[in-house]
Amino acid sequence: MSEVLIVGGGIMGLWAALTAVRAGMSVCLVEERQIGAGASGGILGALMPHMPDKWNAKKQFQFDALVSLESEVAALEAETGLSAGYRRSGRIMPLAKPHLREIALRHEQDALQNWRAGDRQFFWHVQDAVPSGSLGAEAAAHGLVLDTLGGRLAPRQMLTVLRAALAHAPNARIVVGARVRAIHPGRGRAELTDGTEIAFGHCVLAAGVGSFPLIDALCGPLREPSGTGVKGQAALLLADVDPQLPVIFTDGVYIVAHDDGHVAVGSTSENRYANPLSTDELLTELLGRAEVLVPALRGAEMVERWAGIRPKSAGREPMVGRHPDHANLSILTGGFKVSFGIAHRLSRFVIDEIAGRPTIDIPDSFLCRNHIAALREKHL
Ligand SMILES: Cc1cc2nc3c(=O)[nH]c(=O)nc-3n(C[C@H](O)[C@H](O)[C@H](O)COP(=O)(O)OP(=O)(O)OC[C@H]3O[C@@H](n4cnc5c(N)ncnc54)[C@H](O)[C@@H]3O)c2cc1C
Repeated sequence: MSEVLIVGGGIMGLWAALTAVRAGMSVCLVEERQIGAGASGGILGALMPHMPDKWNAKKQFQFDALVSLESEVAALEAETGLSAGYRRSGRIMPLAKPHLREIALRHEQDALQNWRAGDRQFFWHVQDAVPSGSLGAEAAAHGLVLDTLGGRLAPRQMLTVLRAALAHAPNARIVVGARVRAIHPGRGRAELTDGTEIAFGHCVLAAGVGSFPLIDALCGPLREPSGTGVKGQAALLLADVDPQLPVIFTDGVYIVAHDDGHVAVGSTSENRYANPLSTDELLTELLGRAEVLVPALRGAEMVERWAGIRPKSAGREPMVGRHPDHANLSILTGGFKVSFGIAHRLSRFVIDEIAGRPTIDIPDSFLCRNHIAALREKHL
């Protein structure tokens, strides 16, 4: 096959490029700004499992992805000699109210049943002892959950590792500063804003929130866009917190201790925003809540305040796989809040589908063709 064109240099595009190269394909990745210029160039990197109850295909997919990411990252780190800042640190969720403890105890049993991978068992422990240096006393008035499946990585380091792995591949090239303004699958061409065109055998659209207008243009009139952007703000602090601390999560606040002594605090979730990249009092308020949760964050030095736009499909689920109208176009976007834990498996599905050699399933609700069918139904 002639070259696979990948549009977008975020976590999705980089994994897709690497997976394609490993499958023996020639790859050209185009990125309008720079690698990691979008949502992937952030600071949080929490790898957050879904709840272990009400098990379904989506939860199984994410579970398999979170389990397999560990060895995928280890292999890449060995290959490149770089660290992705990955650790299966686990996750703490404080239980502030008695009824939450009741629910958590039920989930403990659900995890025993559903969080199994071969001979590996992951746990959802309900416990009373608070790890030292972590939560304030009030936050965990009724104990806490410590799960052993969650983890974290350092997003920018992960991108650097993927890019380094691609740099070693003879059949991959990365073009930055090139914005795709239209895709013409019929002619096998992508048109750049400077008017030049790139020929492709197959195109994988992994442009984050920038994917949706390109998808809409190809789908004909739709009553609503195929997806939107949800802004998030986060901060990076220099705090005296153990880098091995599990990810702490409650009520929309994430606290992620990284290897380099930095602690990330996230994230706001904003459907309306005037400036996509500004930070403001919403982040300040979030930091106040984080300090109540983890007193060691009080007075910590601010290293960075950051904002990005998460890609969210109209159907809320990742939007993945071959476009129903164009056999030489695949979509890989809509990872919304969880892309870092699943991008490698979604990419595997997309590249397998292009090669005609399926090795994994994805949930039906992720399939591009089902997203577009649902959007077209709404139009009738
Ligand atoms: C504050 C915040 C905290 C988050 N925390 C987490 C977390 O803890 N864990 C987690 O898993 N996820 C988290 N996320 C979500 C995660 O960052 C995103 O889901 C993920 O980065 C999306 O990756 P992507 O590759 O699809 O898109 P992006 O990273 O946005 O990449 C798309 C790329 O395509 C480029 N592009 C766009 N249009 C074009 C075009 N027309 N031509 C060429 N290039 C183009 C862009 O410049 C960009 O570099 C967070 C997001 C935010 C904002």
